[in-house]
Amino acid sequence: MERNSFKISKRRFIKECAALSAGVFCLPGTRTITDLCKEEETVFRKEAMFQEETARGIMCRICPNECVLKEGELSKCNNRKVIKSKLYTLAYGNPCSVNVDPIEKKPLYHFLPGSRAFSIATAGCNLVCLNCQNWTISQTSPDKTRNYDLMPEKVVSECIAKSCKSIAYTYSEPVTFYEYAYDTAVLAKNAGIKNIFKSNGYIYPEPLKKLCSVIDAANIDLKAFNESTYLKLSGGKLQPVLDSLKIYRDMGVWLEITNLIVPEWTDSTGEIRKMCKWLAENGFNKVPVHFSRFHPLYKLEQLPPTPVDILNQAARIAEDEGLLYVYTGNVPGSEISDTKCPGCGNTLLVRQGYRITVNTIANGKCNKCGKAVDGVWS
Ligand code: SF4
Repeated sequence: MERNSFKISKRRFIKECAALSAGVFCLPGTRTITDLCKEEETVFRKEAMFQEETARGIMCRICPNECVLKEGELSKCNNRKVIKSKLYTLAYGNPCSVNVDPIEKKPLYHFLPGSRAFSIATAGCNLVCLNCQNWTISQTSPDKTRNYDLMPEKVVSECIAKSCKSIAYTYSEPVTFYEYAYDTAVLAKNAGIKNIFKSNGYIYPEPLKKLCSVIDAANIDLKAFNESTYLKLSGGKLQPVLDSLKIYRDMGVWLEITNLIVPEWTDSTGEIRKMCKWLAENGFNKVPVHFSRFHPLYKLEQLPPTPVDILNQAARIAEDEGLLYVYTGNVPGSEISDTKCPGCGNTLLVRQGYRITVNTIANGKCNKCGKAVDGVWS
C-alpha cells in the first residue's frame, strides 16, 4: 500500500503549508496545520492515478476539469498536488468525516433497505455548487480539515466491527478521493462488503469503468437539465454526468438518481419533464429517482425552501413519463417515500424518515401479485 508514498520532512511540509494557508480561514473545530503534521508525517501517501505528462504540466485525467498542474500547484478539487514532477493525492487514508448511516440516507431505497453503511469522506470536490450542503468539507483541502488516520484496511475492519453491510464513499465528492476509495473498495469487495458511491457523476469514462468493477451501488446527482444552469449552479457540465449514468447502468451497478429542486434554478416543470423524458427514452425507467427538497444554505441562503407542491408535481410528471420508482426527499410524512409495486400498486416498503417500518417484499417480489421489484433486496 505504501509503495508509491512520497515522504517529506515535517519541516518542509510545515513550510509548504504555511505558504499554502496564508490568509486561509480555518473552520471552527479544525486542527491547525502544525497539529496535523504531528499526526501525519506522511501526507502525500499515494501517487495519483490517471495522470499524464504534458508540455504544460501534469494533467489529471480523472474528471472533465482536466487540471494541468505545475510543481507545487494545488488542483481545482483541492486535494491533488505536483511534487517532484509527479501528481500526488492529498486525500488518502485521512477522512474528515466518518459515520455509520442508514443506507436510506444516501438515498438508496432499493439496495439492502434497512442496512447500515460505514460512511467516509475526505475534504475536496471537483464542483463548486452554490447550494452545497457540505461546503465546509467539500470546498477545502485535506490540509485544513480535522482528519482521522484511517487507511483502507482499517476502514474495512471498522466497517465489519460496526456490523455495516456496505462502505459508502459520500458527503463531499468521492471522485476526488478516487485512489483512497478504489483501494478501499477492492479490499471491501474481497471481504464480502458492498461498496456505494454517492457522487456528482463528474468523472471521465476510463476511471469510472475501473471503479465500476468494484462498486455495487451508486446514487448520482443530476443537478439540472440544461448546460447553462449546470455551469452557473455547480461549475460543471451536464453531458459528462449523463454519460456517467449510462456507464454505471451498463456496467451493472445498482443506480439511483437524485434531483435537488432549487427554487428559481431547477424548479421549471418544463425542464423537469424534459429530464424525465430523457431518462425514460434512454432506458432509465427502472432507476429510482429522488426529487429532493432544497433548504436555504451556503450561497443560496436567500432562497425559500422548495414548496412541497413542486416536489409532488415533479413526482407526477416522472410517473407520467413512465418512470417506475419515484420518490420525494426531505419531506417528512410524505407517502411518496414509500415503495409501491410497479404492477399492482401494493405498498411494499413504508419509510418514516430514514427508518423502514414495513417491508413486505418477498424474494424481490410483490407479496400480493408476485411481480419482480427492481433492486437488490438481500
Ligand atoms: S479530479 Fe481533481 S485534479 Fe483531477 S481533473 Fe478533476 S478537479 Fe482536477
